[in-house]
Amino acid sequence: MSKLLNTPIEYLKGVGPAKAKALRKDLNINTFGDLVEHFPFRYIDKTVILPINRISDAHSEVQIKGKLMRFSHEGTGRAKRLKATIHDGTGSIELIWFQGASWMQNWLEQGKTYLVYGKLQKFRNRYSIPHPEIEAVPSLTQATPLSSLAPMYPSTDSLRKKGLDAKGLRRLTKALIEQIQPTDIPETLPQYLLDKTKLISRFDAIKKIHFPASTTEKNQALNRLKFEELFFAQLRAVHRKFKNYREIPGYRFDVIGDKFNQYYNDILTFDLTGAQKRVLKEIRADLKKGRHMNRLLQGDVGSGKTVVALMSILMAIDNGYQACMIAPTEILAMQHFTGIEEDAKKLGLQIAFLAGSVKGKKRAKILEALSLGQIDILIGTHAVLEEPVVFKNLGLAITDEQHRFGVEQRSKLWRKSKPNPPHILVMTATPIPRTLSMAFYGDLDVSKIDEMPPGRQPVETIHFSESKRLRAYGIMKEEIAKGRQVYVVFPMIEENEDLDLQNLQRGFDLLSNEFPRPQYDISVVHGKMKAKDKDYEMQRFVERKTQIMVATTVIEVGVNVPNATLMIIENANRFGLSQLHQLRGRVGRGGGHSMCILMTGYKLSKEAKIRIKTMTETNDGFVIAEADLKLRGPGDMEGTRQSGDLNLKLASLVEDEKILAFARKLAILIIEKDPQLILNENALLRKHIQTIGRKAQGWSHIS
Ligand code: ADP
Ligand code: MG
Repeated sequence: MSKLLNTPIEYLKGVGPAKAKALRKDLNINTFGDLVEHFPFRYIDKTVILPINRISDAHSEVQIKGKLMRFSHEGTGRAKRLKATIHDGTGSIELIWFQGASWMQNWLEQGKTYLVYGKLQKFRNRYSIPHPEIEAVPSLTQATPLSSLAPMYPSTDSLRKKGLDAKGLRRLTKALIEQIQPTDIPETLPQYLLDKTKLISRFDAIKKIHFPASTTEKNQALNRLKFEELFFAQLRAVHRKFKNYREIPGYRFDVIGDKFNQYYNDILTFDLTGAQKRVLKEIRADLKKGRHMNRLLQGDVGSGKTVVALMSILMAIDNGYQACMIAPTEILAMQHFTGIEEDAKKLGLQIAFLAGSVKGKKRAKILEALSLGQIDILIGTHAVLEEPVVFKNLGLAITDEQHRFGVEQRSKLWRKSKPNPPHILVMTATPIPRTLSMAFYGDLDVSKIDEMPPGRQPVETIHFSESKRLRAYGIMKEEIAKGRQVYVVFPMIEENEDLDLQNLQRGFDLLSNEFPRPQYDISVVHGKMKAKDKDYEMQRFVERKTQIMVATTVIEVGVNVPNATLMIIENANRFGLSQLHQLRGRVGRGGGHSMCILMTGYKLSKEAKIRIKTMTETNDGFVIAEADLKLRGPGDMEGTRQSGDLNLKLASLVEDEKILAFARKLAILIIEKDPQLILNENALLRKHIQTIGRKAQGWSHIS
């Protein structure tokens, strides 16, 4: 960074110690350079003056020009306000002041022409502009020079009090930007990339992102800076991936052995799908190469990832290694454990479960057996990563990532085996959108299970509001009469636990009335029950002793009852999209027609409407994941809470998919041609990788 940009912020004209302190504290702006990188979050478009009769709901802010016709005072006391009518020949609009009314009235002159800018408000179908920016201009006919796009900067209350609102920050930034020279903003992209991409220089981009003369300039600047962010993240990921191929040795699993064959021939009760076979081949190819595997396994709910995981585990075991599988929550880990336990025992393998809840002697025994190699498969939570957990020879680690594991956790996993790190297979619980997979797993090889086991039919999904409750009960009765079973799911969140439990109880009472014994029987399962009682209730349902299972989201993970063909989701509007998709995945497993009814009240938020509509329109987990990403933004998406080294200031994983894909393509081309970035033309890129590598304290090789 140049000397100028390294200057402490208090030396900027107009800042001083008090403002500097607030800038540091509130916005982490310490130097001139930090201010330069405090980018606008939007722009006010003052390039257009809108005829008043063209104002519509499409505008949130408008700039108009017209003659001030008349004033009026309305209301009394606190409700007192000043109204002024502006006319521009096409129509008229009212300006309103709630504060400073008398001062405004003194300042404004009837009959004069004004340029007015402000937020549009609509009341009883009439537009008005409260507290506009307003300035007198020569006359109605004379052309007024158009000002440009005005940047708006994020600010805070305490900064605003010190005069550093969006406008104040604009003033400071303007003064600073006028001082900087091309040498202050060194180029970070090689010239050949600038030529190829037709992007503007970093210096130009920095100037133009703050003060664009036009929308085109603003977009040029944004494109350049977004590309840079995404490109360097991809370059790091792709570089890491190639480095893996070249440098990191892995255990060689040469044989397909007894356990694998025994499982495949004698235990597996169904044929693998083509997709499962393909994915297993991809994994097998990795494992026999003698280099470290780093692979992502993606597949929709119910696509059969568990079998693939287990068969990979058997490859490790047949070659004399241990394997482990880690899930983000104890419930999920337990689900994997119960899913695999029976088969493992049939194969004569030792399998153990380790989580925070496993304590004392039991834990000590497991740890000892593990270090002696007496346990073949360890399934658990993050507890597996803790220091005292020592394997004899861990050959394969599988993570089931509902939330992405942090870099630190991965490095712990990495150190669980010597001399080589264990092979890594990352499974995602639900599909993740393309952009997220590129951004967060860009250094992994990807395997996709893109085919459902045979007999699966899309689950017909419909939306009922309260008035159709009886109809829903009718459908339940029809299904039960056919010998089928039904889930009724209630939302349950921690913050609202008491109310949610009451709801569930009320729902259960209603159902008990509608479906009385002895003709019907109902299971209830919720998170507040003892594990023993839960198991008992679930077991009754599994054994078809009950026809209806009333449950909270606990069944989201857990039961597999192919005979259940109908799911009713109560208060469906309260569930997230991927949660709804996961839930729905519990039916439609037995072949034959299945159905999901989303029950809601009448009033729905805009987002809830989109969620419900998406669910009724598609069964495709990838489509649903994309919709979820658009609704919630990547920050809230499951699987992206930890963004690792992805520090995006401008680029958005929702809106900038094209730029991201382009950046990734270029990064791959460059690394393929020059894997270690030793060519002269890539000097700048090499420098970037080295600097970041040092910052990451040697973690850069960890996925
Ligand atoms: P997920 O990918 O969601 O983890 P699972 O591995 O839990 O899916 O598989 C869902 C269900 O499908 C399980 O009951 C499993 O036994 C079954 N299954 C998996 N693969 C096949 C297949 N090829 N044919 C038939 N059923 C399968
Ligand atoms: Mg699963």
